Amino acid sequence: MAIELSNHPLVRHYLTILRNTETAAEDFRRACTGVTGVLMVEAAKQLELESFIVQTPMEKTDGDRISGDVVLVPILRAGLGMLDAAMAAVPGSSVGYIGLERDEATAEARCYYSKMPELSAAQIVYVIDPMLATGGSAIQSIDRIKADGATRISMVCIIAAPEGIAALQEAHPDVSIMAGVIDRELDENKYICPGLGDFGDRLFRT
Ligand code: URA
Repeated sequence: MAIELSNHPLVRHYLTILRNTETAAEDFRRACTGVTGVLMVEAAKQLELESFIVQTPMEKTDGDRISGDVVLVPILRAGLGMLDAAMAAVPGSSVGYIGLERDEATAEARCYYSKMPELSAAQIVYVIDPMLATGGSAIQSIDRIKADGATRISMVCIIAAPEGIAALQEAHPDVSIMAGVIDRELDENKYICPGLGDFGDRLFRT
């Protein structure tokens, strides 16, 4: 499946705030919320509607609501920064958590926590992680989510590296990707360039 990029001006605006080393943690958090809201609205274009009759104060009329369950899965820890905005954008979603941490020596992801709602082919699952770098965390998370029964999965990230996109598309060709931007490359420590540094550190001031 294809990768889709948002060309919304707000994404460019918030992305620049996120990239800037001068940005304070509060502004970084606000920009993360802002860009995630736009990306989730774009990703949610694939959701289906069901019709029903709604009673307005004046009369009955045709209405719509999102049909089916949506599950949001932030990859801990950086994905937590996107969660509030994603929940606000998609009404009535359930939330599952996957905790992966990067081994700084090997840059490999290791799962230390997982808590999922019941998953099935009926749900749409959005895996949220701001930085799609090597793709290792996304691939491991999606392996688990599929093993739990989900089949309709999208990845939502703020910055994607070409290496991460290629790895994710090879491992999970059925998973669509919504990203704010594709950056140039990974450096020798597997950080995205030009990127924004360590997203979790900047978000949580660690
Ligand atoms: N995770 C980050 O926080 N930043 C990167 O550049 C890559 C992975």
